[in-house]
Amino acid sequence: MPQSEFGLSCTNMKKALFLLGVSWILLAQTGADSVDTATVARMRAEEMEHSEIMHTLHMLTDRYGPRVTGTPNHEAAVKWVIAETTRWGMKNAHQEAWDFGRDGWSNERASGFIVAPVHQNLKFEVLAWTPSTKGTVTASAIQIYPPLGPLVEPSADTSPGRGGRGFGPTHLGPTREEMDAWVAATKDKVGGKIVLAGKQTVIPVSFEAPQKRRPDDLVKAMYDPERGDGGRGAFGGRGRGGPQDPNRLTAAQVSDRVDGMLLKGGAIARVNDAARADGIIVAQQNRFYDAAKCVPTVIVRNDDYGRIERLLADGDDVKLELNILNHTYPDGKTSYNAVAEIPGTDKADEVVMLGGHLDSWHSATGATDNGIGSSIMLEAVRLIETLGLKPRRTIRVALWSGEEEGLLGSLAYVKQHFGTAEDPKPEWYKLDCYFNVDTGTGRLRGGSVFGPKEAAAVLRPLFAQFEDWGLFGAVGAASRQTGGTDSTSFNNAGLPGIGMSQDPIEYNTLTHHTSLDTYERIVPDDVKKASAEIAAAVWYVANRGEMVPRFSKADMPAPVEAR
Ligand SMILES: [Zn+2]
Repeated sequence: MPQSEFGLSCTNMKKALFLLGVSWILLAQTGADSVDTATVARMRAEEMEHSEIMHTLHMLTDRYGPRVTGTPNHEAAVKWVIAETTRWGMKNAHQEAWDFGRDGWSNERASGFIVAPVHQNLKFEVLAWTPSTKGTVTASAIQIYPPLGPLVEPSADTSPGRGGRGFGPTHLGPTREEMDAWVAATKDKVGGKIVLAGKQTVIPVSFEAPQKRRPDDLVKAMYDPERGDGGRGAFGGRGRGGPQDPNRLTAAQVSDRVDGMLLKGGAIARVNDAARADGIIVAQQNRFYDAAKCVPTVIVRNDDYGRIERLLADGDDVKLELNILNHTYPDGKTSYNAVAEIPGTDKADEVVMLGGHLDSWHSATGATDNGIGSSIMLEAVRLIETLGLKPRRTIRVALWSGEEEGLLGSLAYVKQHFGTAEDPKPEWYKLDCYFNVDTGTGRLRGGSVFGPKEAAAVLRPLFAQFEDWGLFGAVGAASRQTGGTDSTSFNNAGLPGIGMSQDPIEYNTLTHHTSLDTYERIVPDDVKKASAEIAAAVWYVANRGEMVPRFSKADMPAPVEAR
């Protein structure tokens, strides 16, 4: 631009530069919303060179896993987190009780064999909240076929469930009358037997390699700020398929009826098909959470289930032996969230939270779900402590229990501390936002922020510091539906919950809730990077001039009942 048009003399230029300098200093002092790139660089270097995350994960998995809600293992993990965060210099580390309302449950011993007409040890896991066998029991196996109802092709608007399955045709379920008739015809056959419930699911050999990383262009499109709707790339409260016909029983209701029949009919044990390839077993819980309401129940790997089925079809008397010893813990009715803080300075009454669930399922050590999410959050606060950083707002890490049973620990905490947008407690106004990680070991790829567009925009300049590590932005989310993970407990209350999305790696294919969810399945490089990214994001938010914007009263989505 020519000087005449610019219209500034040398003196004026000096004045302008001086003013520019003053305003830059003012911006730095008051706005403080520019990214502190020097600290981001220190966090990156410190984490990649001196990480302790794999030690934290080792303790949570190898020492304290599995960490089922209501068990001594989970409580020991909570106590370790309190001691460890205190050792790092964090303040106010403590456990907060909430009412789980059920006994804790654990399996101590489980062995099983086919003893006739062949001999083989069975690969299986025990279903949680089911009873022990009476020592070693041997009995003939029988197979029963609960009614399924008519088969239908999925409708176009039926979204697949989490885990990438559920695309195929599904059964509508039996009517109540069909179920009653089947129970009446079957109940006298199960006494003294070990009962295989249902036909084996045939899992064909797959010729497709599962995708472990999401391509960058796909992730960039997911977190494109112009998209604006948000939520789809992370947890947005998806439904679980089409509407259920009220005249037909769901698969869960059928299973409950089978449990009742087996208990009343004097069956020795129930055997379910794991229905997964590669020996993968997912063993969750009996829906009653009451060992008095069902018989001992195991989930046998698909291959063993198929072998027993085929031997039975040959007309053989197939005998199985089981020995299962489970424990229940009445003290588990009270469970605990673990909480620790880095106190703030001039805005100490405002709080930036980060967390994940510490509880797990029981058939492995709960590494990807969610020992690692917990470890990432712990490592993030350890980094901030190690670097001697003093945030303006208080930083509070919280590790929940009861997530696997329905986000129970985080919902209890949110209810107790914050209330809801419609019935807020004083702390509701003081929570800045809540970061959550809970989808395995993969790199962080973006964040879904409950709130108006401006809320997601807050995080973009910080996340942009990590594009070389594959973190590509943030989008808004507006659903108050609970589901998926604990950030939705905050969304449900109208608070800025932030769900971080990750590369899938082996989460859906191998580890989520399975018998293979162990320390070995963690990618150290990914989780170190995630820790530095969360530390930088928390640090950034904790020092901004303003809190993360929220929906105004007029724009707040209608409340949804937590479930
Ligand atoms: Zn989880």
